Amino acid sequence: MAEEIKTAENAAGNFIYDFITEDIAEGGRYEGKEVHTRFPPEPNGYLHIGHAKAICVDFGMAERFGGKCNLRMDDTNPTKEDVEYVDAIKEDIEWLGFSWDDRFYFASEYFDDMYGYAVELIKKGLAYVCQLTPEQMRENRGDLSKPAVSPYRDRPVEESLDLFERMKNGEFEDGSMTLRAKIDLASGNFNMRDPVIYRINRIHHHRTGDKWCIYPMYDFAHPIEDAIEGITHSLCTLEFEDHRPLYDWVINNTSVPCVPRQIEFARLGINNTVMSKRKLRQLVEDKYVNGWDDPRMPTLCGLRRRGYTPASIRNFCDRIGVAKTNSVVEYSFLEHCLREDLNETAQRVMVVLRPIKLIITNYPEDKTEEFEIENNPNRPEDGKRTVTFGRECYIEAEDFIEQKIKGYNRLYPGNEVRLKSAYIVKCTGCKKDESGNVVEVYAEYDPETRGGDTPDGRKVRGTIHWVDAKNYVEAEVRLYDNLFTDPEPDTGDKNFLDYINPESLVVLKGCKAERAVEKADSSTRYQFMRSGYFCTDNDSTPDRLIFNRSVSLKDGYKRK
Ligand code: ATP
Ligand code: MG
Repeated sequence: MAEEIKTAENAAGNFIYDFITEDIAEGGRYEGKEVHTRFPPEPNGYLHIGHAKAICVDFGMAERFGGKCNLRMDDTNPTKEDVEYVDAIKEDIEWLGFSWDDRFYFASEYFDDMYGYAVELIKKGLAYVCQLTPEQMRENRGDLSKPAVSPYRDRPVEESLDLFERMKNGEFEDGSMTLRAKIDLASGNFNMRDPVIYRINRIHHHRTGDKWCIYPMYDFAHPIEDAIEGITHSLCTLEFEDHRPLYDWVINNTSVPCVPRQIEFARLGINNTVMSKRKLRQLVEDKYVNGWDDPRMPTLCGLRRRGYTPASIRNFCDRIGVAKTNSVVEYSFLEHCLREDLNETAQRVMVVLRPIKLIITNYPEDKTEEFEIENNPNRPEDGKRTVTFGRECYIEAEDFIEQKIKGYNRLYPGNEVRLKSAYIVKCTGCKKDESGNVVEVYAEYDPETRGGDTPDGRKVRGTIHWVDAKNYVEAEVRLYDNLFTDPEPDTGDKNFLDYINPESLVVLKGCKAERAVEKADSSTRYQFMRSGYFCTDNDSTPDRLIFNRSVSLKDGYKRK
């Protein structure tokens, strides 16, 4: 059955899939169980495209095996956690199209259990209360040739039990004591050198309030959370590989109800952006961008506002695959995936971004014609729309030059151009203002070329888009570019804020759009002919249309 789900593309090199398949075949601890994974975000920021990869791996893997995936807020470290983030995280995952059904949890719900398992470890002689200060602990951690020193390690069980309970009851200062697992002071893996599993930290928790003044450390808490939820496979990023022995140690030495397996995969990195929540927060708080959902942000809400579709992001995550070594994926590949999706589905329209008027001097003054244009040449079923045409229309200012230059096939005096789906026109000149700026372009049309075809078969190379100057709507258009000028703005000792691209947002007002765009809603995706794929911005209203360029038409990925 698993074999059927495995597709050639996404199974290639997917070692996680293979591990899980082996586990199931082996039986043993997985006997009779369905594959059960979890996605455990820390609710201290918005999700970004890196998280989307983890979500696709966690939810996607469960889906492929017909299993389940839980959503769990990893809120064991109460600094900077906020309900705002919890709601946003849920919204983003649902938007991507994954469902946790009724399996939504908070790690903080398990604080009592964790405390109980810590007591169990003390009773077994496998944990002790330590009174080294953080500095002393660092000084005593030893090095590769020298084991750590831990003077409180042989404290009697009864004494640790008593002190741990009093730690919980708030009798001691923050930082004055810790609970440490008793493992191996000489281990080559420093995570195993009697790691701290509880610390005193008087900090208000957004769910448990002031009930606790001791909080468990991630490495102790996470395996317990997984086991309590019956997780079979705990998929996480590579930086946890060295923590896996501790994960297994906690599972093996406490009476938790099941034995999950941790499997690590490479983090997603993308160039021309930053992906750490701390840095993203800084961009927002210091107003380099307009909020977490600024369309230049790599956050899921930012990408959504930019016009990314769930399908394009899931497709991207599938195609980059999962690997055991970290690597950086080209931002242009993400754009490529969006373009592929929108090319299939987006409605084509004509919008002039930087307008100049074209006057067709031999066209009757008050005549108006209608042309039928296909909404999407890829999908005849999407039908046609009517656009009107008259003596005056708007064209892109850059579609006219006064002097011919080599390779330029658009309007210049004497040259013929096709006005998309309407007529062939021949440029006759232009009018300029006092400062020499072109204000109007003139042309004559050939009445024999209705629809844009030449009956005599003569070649007309350029085709430009246009909008009837008597029948259009105004729109604001926002064009985006990379947020950073450096492809790796936060490597080495670079300060990413030094590389903000001042041209990452260009706002064009007074753009002229054909009327079809008036009916746009938040789900509409357009291809503005020759300039890219667009969606309406959240700020857009029927009286003030605003479009975001999701991605341009030029494919930077294919070109490479
Ligand atoms: P950040 O470093 O951005 O703050 P984080 O790892 O602290 O990220 P969490 O909320 O703890 O953020 O992440 C939830 C899950 O998403 C974790 O399992 C984590 O491994 C995974 N994850 C985070 N960033 C990436 C990434 N760039 N690629 C793949 N998975 C990621
Ligand atoms: Mg984390």
